[in-house]
Amino acid sequence: MKNVLITGASRGIGASCAEAFAKAGFHVFVNYNNSEEQALVLCEKIRKEGGICTPVKADVSDMEQVRRTVSLCVYHGGGIDVLVNNAGIDFYGTFEQTEPQIWQKIIDTDLTGVYNATYAALPEIKNSGHGRIINISSVWGVHGASCEVAYSAAKAGVIGFTKALAKELGPSGVTVNCVAPGYIDTDMNGMFDKATVSDIINRTPLSRTGSVSDVADTVLWLASEKASFITGQIIGVDGGFM
Ligand code: NDP
Repeated sequence: MKNVLITGASRGIGASCAEAFAKAGFHVFVNYNNSEEQALVLCEKIRKEGGICTPVKADVSDMEQVRRTVSLCVYHGGGIDVLVNNAGIDFYGTFEQTEPQIWQKIIDTDLTGVYNATYAALPEIKNSGHGRIINISSVWGVHGASCEVAYSAAKAGVIGFTKALAKELGPSGVTVNCVAPGYIDTDMNGMFDKATVSDIINRTPLSRTGSVSDVADTVLWLASEKASFITGQIIGVDGGFM
């Protein structure tokens, strides 16, 4: 049985990835930080449906907590085959409102969190023989968003990280890819009013917002044997928005 560690899997896109990987037969390690109850409810649901999962609390911006998470994956699952770097936070406000501590928190979570989990898990992923690293960036990491400068910068960093690491790890047989979602219906977008969401839909060729399963299906496919010759890619899941 293969093991997948999904960061930020208590809610939203990460939770949908957890369900998709469990249905595909993976032992899923459901990382969460604050939403313990949601993570436990999700794990209970996965188990009732016949899947195998283990919840694990860690703040991805803290290397020691991430190292403990990897040790737990090794103890309970024997290793890590797939790492999904999904955990993320956003800050919506002008650049002038982006005070140093806000900037630091976004970078620590959205970019350093990807470094921490990858660095700590890499020996296990290399051992797997068919290791996969899948990072969740954003359309704003490709194109930049007004009033989301810190977020756009962190997500652009994730794209550079993906491309560089893919080259370095190719000879080890590990693929490194990135998914760049457009607007997906999750808590993260809770601050947008109906008019803003309608505007986004009007500007989206496929005329809808994205669902968490749109992203999860793509992540699962990147983790599959069918994507074994794909590495260093940034896959847009945005209905043609960009
Ligand atoms: P949600 O706000 O719904 O969920 C965020 C998840 O990240 C939660 O499970 C949360 O865990 C976890 N998380 C946040 N900070 C940390 C941390 N320090 N350590 C561990 N886990 C953490 O967001 P989405 O599902 O929408 O977003 C998932 C990813 O997709 C993010 O990287 C986001 O940037 C990206 N994305 C989302 C888009 C969208 O439109 N929704 C578009 C493009 C990209 P907990 O609650 O337990 O703290």
